Amino acid sequence: MTARRQYRLLANVDHGKVRTYRKGCCCASCTAAAVDAARRWQAKARQKPFAEIPHGTAGGYTNYACRCPECTAAMTAAKRPHGRGQV
Ligand SMILES: [Zn+2]
Ligand SMILES: [Zn+2]
Repeated sequence: MTARRQYRLLANVDHGKVRTYRKGCCCASCTAAAVDAARRWQAKARQKPFAEIPHGTAGGYTNYACRCPECTAAMTAAKRPHGRGQV
């Protein structure tokens, strides 16, 4: 069984805002605002100096587009299903 996320359209809120999206609104304009904000954040994150990137984390790989061995290994580990390690 998978938990289904319920998306609802909120009334009396400012649509087209990330804040509204975070409140749970998933209308087209709020989603677009959230996607836009994430893209801008990511573009900024990718300009970070190598030393400031959290290496060895999946976030370093995805958010910072770091492909160093540590981040790549963390990403591989994160993708692997949990439980018994398979060789
Ligand atoms: Zn909305
Ligand atoms: Zn790295």
